[in-house]
Amino acid sequence: MFDGRRVLPGRPSVLVTDGRIVAIGNLEPEGVPVHDGRGRTLLPGLIDSHVHTFEGSRADALRFGVTTELEMFGDPAKLADARRRRKSLQQTRESDLWSAGNGVTVPGGHPLGTDWEFPRVQPDTDLDAYVRDRIAEGSDFIKLVYEPGNPPDRPLPSLTAEQVRATIAATHRRRRLAVAHVEKLRLWVDTVRFGADGIVHAPYDAVAGDADVVVLKRSGALVVPTLSVVDWGAGAKSLLADPRVTDWLSGTQTYLLDQEPPDRPDRPDFLGIASANVRRFHAAGVPILAGTDAPVRANVSGASLFTELEHLVRAGLSPSEALTAATAAPAEAFRLLDRGRVAVGRRADLVLVDGDPTHDITAVRAIRTIWKNGHAVDRTPTD
Ligand SMILES: [Zn+2]
Repeated sequence: MFDGRRVLPGRPSVLVTDGRIVAIGNLEPEGVPVHDGRGRTLLPGLIDSHVHTFEGSRADALRFGVTTELEMFGDPAKLADARRRRKSLQQTRESDLWSAGNGVTVPGGHPLGTDWEFPRVQPDTDLDAYVRDRIAEGSDFIKLVYEPGNPPDRPLPSLTAEQVRATIAATHRRRRLAVAHVEKLRLWVDTVRFGADGIVHAPYDAVAGDADVVVLKRSGALVVPTLSVVDWGAGAKSLLADPRVTDWLSGTQTYLLDQEPPDRPDRPDFLGIASANVRRFHAAGVPILAGTDAPVRANVSGASLFTELEHLVRAGLSPSEALTAATAAPAEAFRLLDRGRVAVGRRADLVLVDGDPTHDITAVRAIRTIWKNGHAVDRTPTD
């Protein structure tokens, strides 16, 4: 049993009643169904710390053991329902959701190609009122975008440094977390200096220097590296070749994983650079959280978290540390205090896998049973 931080000694059992874990230890309770875990490993339900949801994506997540998703920009219309569901202990077919709702960005800025209208930041926007309105709309935390594109060839309009600071300050006045989309190392470090609580991509244009790592470490900010976004389809290909995965994919997941990444033969080794940054951040003790950025670039809710964990292990996390990055660490960072651990009192979101993913991280692909709120999850794809 991996409790989110460590493997518990012995072979403890876990007793679940009414959707919650009520005891852990050498138990021999009577009158309850027993699941044999020999040769298997019990984990907390997995948490993906960077997704964008759409119709069906949360069911896709749950069928792969991802019981909670953190959305880093999305339609706020669904957030009241999400809030109600995540408090419930009823049986469900979907992951629970926390969300930034509408992100903080400018007209014409990143993210491009979104088809919903939302309030964007103008040069004269009062950011204190703007952040207040997002929280009133249901945002659990605030996600801002600091992304000037690639000037001079491909510039993008972006928040200014002053607007980034003002957004973070307004968020902190309301005791919420402010996280940021930043990809370029210099702006990335600036955003950490401005007080962001987390950056939801690793920089992939350059490797951080010692001084940068010190700034990050001292700030206490977390990092969601999303290495899956810069692996150029390698993770997707490996999932599509694995029957432990393909048997359970929905048509939408298969379609998305099959997308060819943009053809850029001269592109730098983005995955190598981003992974080198993860290696440095992790060695310094910076909290690393596992996130996929699904459905961006051949990533899907659910299965792509497996390849993200594999990327994190290649970047220097131990398999157990990678599992922590998808369980206890995001639960602590985002204050999801009823989940993320196998511990008495927590919600019974659990995953049983064959083998031992604390030694071989790919064993998380070999899911035997998923429980959400104490109920076994039907893994049959619905579409
Ligand atoms: Zn994203």
